[in-house]
Amino acid sequence: SASLADRDPEIASAIAKELGRQRDEIELIASENIVSRAVLEAQGSVMTNKYAEGYPGRRYYGGCQFVDIAEQLAIERACKLFGCGFANVQPNSGSQANQAVFLGLLKPGDTFMGLDLAAGGHLTHGAAPNMSGKWFKVVSYTVRPEDQTIDMDAVERIAQENKPKLIIAGGSGYARHWDFARFRQIADSVGAYFMVDMAHFAGLVAGGAHPSPFPHAHVVTSTTHKTLRGPRGGLILTDDAEIAKKINSAVFPGLQGGPLMHVIAAKAVAFGEALTPEFKLYARNVVENAKALADTIGAAGYAIVTGGTDNHLMLVDLRPKKLTGKAAEAALGRAHITCNKNGVPFDTEKPTITSGIRLGSPAATSRGFGVAEFKRVGELIVETLDGLATNGDDGNGAVEQGVRQKVAELTRRFPIY
Ligand code: PLP
Repeated sequence: SASLADRDPEIASAIAKELGRQRDEIELIASENIVSRAVLEAQGSVMTNKYAEGYPGRRYYGGCQFVDIAEQLAIERACKLFGCGFANVQPNSGSQANQAVFLGLLKPGDTFMGLDLAAGGHLTHGAAPNMSGKWFKVVSYTVRPEDQTIDMDAVERIAQENKPKLIIAGGSGYARHWDFARFRQIADSVGAYFMVDMAHFAGLVAGGAHPSPFPHAHVVTSTTHKTLRGPRGGLILTDDAEIAKKINSAVFPGLQGGPLMHVIAAKAVAFGEALTPEFKLYARNVVENAKALADTIGAAGYAIVTGGTDNHLMLVDLRPKKLTGKAAEAALGRAHITCNKNGVPFDTEKPTITSGIRLGSPAATSRGFGVAEFKRVGELIVETLDGLATNGDDGNGAVEQGVRQKVAELTRRFPIY
């Protein structure tokens, strides 16, 4: 049958251009990564053809003997990787993993606690337009204005006052470790479940470069495509047999129908990769590289939120240079450095403008960048943004073009695919 290029030249061309973009740009979006060829191959496989409602050995369709192998391996590897007794590898995304926990452990109208979106929480942790914010009573906790880190005494007070059924730790824009033990202690004191959403830092946990949410969390959710470097998807883990049963029913038949077996096969491949010694080194490098980037940018007069990073990401507060996140993201994009604008805690700019950018090291570390390259990237970011502060949006073309050439020198030395 016809190749993609013959059958659909428009889509083939868009994919080829996307590959070119990924090759030529420095990817600093903290939630992205570059998967292996093996992961791509599994995801692009014939397992996409298969219906497999149910779980391995307990399916509602025939012909599941081979997809069962893939899902069983994904489950076993996930449990080994994170040191727990149960994994559900079927959630189609991180958001659906979180929805499954809500469906399994809460009832509409129940109270839960999560980190405020404006302080680095995720949409699914109770933001008003999200289902989590519409169907539940949400009490958010936030960070201390002085140092932008989570105020655990306030978490305790809010929990005591509101008696939530569930407390979530984890977020999308928080650069520091979480005090899992204290969260669990607080959850226990009010009879709440303690959930960790480790979507961002799961790969660091897997590689031993970040504290593990186990044994503290009752339930752990994650994406598989960020630091964990797998296909886009979700994951739920627990060590509690009762919770495990509730999670399995919540994912199927509660929320989803047929699982994406090609993606589950790719998750198994990624978990297998994450079990190797090379991945431990990768996770350590991700953290070291993020520190090098934060140090370089901070030394140039930009404010790094919380003063630095313990993980793979950082928020850069641009207000000392009188820049907005929107303008910075665009200028860096023209210079072939990709990142996203991001609100900083207590930001007074609109979410479409923001006062900050979020930067992360996972993708460029995957292509081989080390500390020297990340320092260089930091310098190129500073060059672009200082230029923007001096020359304005329209006048910075020459600076951006110069940086684009230096980016090309770097990306050529570290080719992908
Ligand atoms: N949880 C956290 C902490 C996240 O950062 C994200 C993604 O940004 C998600 C959940 C949702 O994942 P997905 O985009 O796969 O739905």
